[in-house]
Amino acid sequence: MTTRSAMFPDRAILHIDMDAFYASVEVLDDPSLKGKPVMVGGTPEGRGVVAAASYEARAYGVHSAMSAARAVKLCPDGIFLRGRMDRYAEISGQVFAIFEDYTPLVEPLSIDEAFLDVTGSRRLFGSAEQVGRTIKERILAEIGLVASVGLAANKFLAKLASDLEKPDGFTVILPGEARALLARLPIGKLWGVGKVAEKQMHRFGIRKVGDLLAVPPELLVEQFGDHAIHLLELAVGHDERAVVPVHKAKSIGNETTFREDIHQAEHLQDILDQLTAKVARRLRSHGFLARTVTLKARYPDFTTHTRSETLITPSDSGVDLRDAARGLLTRKLGRRGRSLRLIGVTASNLVRQGEGQAQLFPDPDRERDRKLDSIMDKVHGKFGPMLKRGARRK
Ligand SMILES: [Mg+2]
Repeated sequence: MTTRSAMFPDRAILHIDMDAFYASVEVLDDPSLKGKPVMVGGTPEGRGVVAAASYEARAYGVHSAMSAARAVKLCPDGIFLRGRMDRYAEISGQVFAIFEDYTPLVEPLSIDEAFLDVTGSRRLFGSAEQVGRTIKERILAEIGLVASVGLAANKFLAKLASDLEKPDGFTVILPGEARALLARLPIGKLWGVGKVAEKQMHRFGIRKVGDLLAVPPELLVEQFGDHAIHLLELAVGHDERAVVPVHKAKSIGNETTFREDIHQAEHLQDILDQLTAKVARRLRSHGFLARTVTLKARYPDFTTHTRSETLITPSDSGVDLRDAARGLLTRKLGRRGRSLRLIGVTASNLVRQGEGQAQLFPDPDRERDRKLDSIMDKVHGKFGPMLKRGARRK
């Protein structure tokens, strides 16, 4: 495949948006709902609104923000479910953890969509398109949900792209294609053109984005104010806004729920080692060192225990974290024969690389571990998803 990333010489931005997120999580957790019109949010008896509707429900004309009372008229056989925000937040965390494997520049727009600036990720992970496809595949393979992905040179176009072929879309808008594509779109698709502005535009004979460009700019400013200048920029596909990660990581963690409870110590340790290696890799890609390693274990009866260990020296080394996590598993939680249903590792008390304690006596073992880690990071970058699939098969 010729690298289309050569087509994004300046910036490569992904917008990733989960399809019918709440409804899809409900179907994931209860496969008997598959293929049925599922609505999450208010119940028909109450006065709530639909927060999310499966695509089967949308076929009846139901959409989010519609009153549940109206939705039940349109779709009398629909299945109305109360939302489970805790569960959605949990899945959202898993989705964002995948994003953060590829770039620290993740800007969440809501619980189920984000912008990712992958301009700098290409050196390690291949073209921007490859990064987008890998993330989409991993969300499906590891979580079981479908996302739509848009790739473009800026935020405005990336968001537009992710919406064009929803659901299950993957849409690239190349810089050279943007202008012609925009010209054909209804004017209401421009950011900042709401229902009121849209009507005004229609009165002015502006129905398509392209129509905007035919009007002399002075006239537009006269009619619509200075805002019109911004709209003209968008209309030709210009958008300079940066992807701004809003939350600074306070901790970095990964956990996994097993398909079936596991009691074999070796098996648990294998899984723990994989999780820990992943956490260490994420620490390094974000430039953090961790002071504290926390192990989380959930038993089949859902009781959950966490145990922490503070490292003598803050570290991002796979070996340091692994030793700490293994120690916690065997010493504090390793009651033999007890099965677990979930295991997780979190690195917290993070310090920026370079802000930690100065290394007074460089340790040769540590140097060797660091080199190994950095080689593994490169290998993972190139072959990550493949290695993971292989690892799971055993
Ligand atoms: Mg969504």
